[in-house]
Amino acid sequence: MPLQTVNGRACRWAGASVKVLKMISVDEAQRMILDRVPVLPTEIVALSETTGRILRQDIYADMDMPPFDRARMDGYALRAADLAIVPARLRVLGQLAAGQQFDGQVGPGQAVRIMTGAPVPDGADAVQKVEATATDQQTVTIYESVKVGQFITPRGSEATRGQHLIAAGQRITPADIAVMATFGYAQVRVSQSLTVNVLSTGNELVEVNQTPSIAQIRNSNGYALRSYLDQLGARSSFLGIVPDDEELILQRIKAALPQCDVLILSGGVSMGDYDLVKHALRRLGADIVFDRVCIHPGKPTVFALLEHKPVFALPGNPVSVAVTFLNFVYPALNKMMGARDIFLPSFRAILEADAKHAPDRRSYLPGRLTSREGQLTVAPLRWGGSSDLIAFRHANALIIVPEGLSLIQAGQLCHTILIPHMSWASAAAKESQPIR
Ligand code: AMP
Ligand code: MG
Repeated sequence: MPLQTVNGRACRWAGASVKVLKMISVDEAQRMILDRVPVLPTEIVALSETTGRILRQDIYADMDMPPFDRARMDGYALRAADLAIVPARLRVLGQLAAGQQFDGQVGPGQAVRIMTGAPVPDGADAVQKVEATATDQQTVTIYESVKVGQFITPRGSEATRGQHLIAAGQRITPADIAVMATFGYAQVRVSQSLTVNVLSTGNELVEVNQTPSIAQIRNSNGYALRSYLDQLGARSSFLGIVPDDEELILQRIKAALPQCDVLILSGGVSMGDYDLVKHALRRLGADIVFDRVCIHPGKPTVFALLEHKPVFALPGNPVSVAVTFLNFVYPALNKMMGARDIFLPSFRAILEADAKHAPDRRSYLPGRLTSREGQLTVAPLRWGGSSDLIAFRHANALIIVPEGLSLIQAGQLCHTILIPHMSWASAAAKESQPIR
């Protein structure tokens, strides 16, 4: 294909023929990606290092929990029948702290001073809290009667030995770590870390610490992509900005590939004369699986396999990067990491205002999801299109307008997916007025 020089850089002739594949639906694109990405091998790591990693083993209880009938209050272990008439005076046999065991037996008219977490002594069938008692060391007066079992957490009531507690595929949370610590999992099998390299392409881009001259802008995609990857628990490196030069793009892809499991590029994939990423990928022998998806924003998204590694080349506009990352890269990386839930959470919500778009593609419009009187509602944001990263910051959800529809009217139910860049809790807490 003929090359031309512009600003000293090689580029393709305007109008040179570009092979374009069939436009496919979002669902097809997701299927094609998920059919092709591999699941990473596992490794064993120390429990304390596993937050956010994907668990690759099932977790079982190695003992009953609690392992004994456990006092739930500081008070007195006693026999409920002894408190049929209150106040009742009982003889105190001794004191039992958490971690201690009582050798004797609690008989009629007797009690043992007991602390929260200690095993209830044999013979006792309830605990009365210290606030309902008065003592002179030898005896205790109990002012309120109790039911059998009161303030006792019975052995095995939270988990029984052998019980399945956490399924493989879980992204490990602090609560999961507490469970694994309780049942003796000092080492845990998780997915190996996923390594992702990120390249930004574009002649107009400068780095964040530079002042753009006229016609230049700072690279935001490289940073946004790394931030999404951080949230996913992937290890990522930003390998810099590549000018719109086919040869340079080719060289940088070639250099980036060996050190990663997945390569993500942004920019240079649409139909402009300087959109050369696909050409570079082809010249490297990549299998281009698709290069156009029926999605707005993000139509020219490219997914390819190069030396069996997934390569995502996303359109350069920042909102397109976010929408295509969330729809295509996010589930792919989750599958690779062995996650059970690979897609973003989705909700049906009532639209607060009309959501419009051209009906030829499925649209993902930035919105603000909130709960009003127990009902999820979503307000479309006013935005200036796929470059408007300033407005997009306020979105916590994407409103889906299905292909074939140009409008979903206010008051109707629509499908939304949650954007992970703003937590649901903070969004709900902040939300009072829709941004219109
Ligand atoms: P492209 O996909 O290369 O045609 O780029 C589409 C738009 O996205 C252009 O306005 C680019 O300047 C912009 N863009 C491309 N890459 C980046 C980037 N890394 N950060 C911010 N904007 C970008
Ligand atoms: Mg460009």
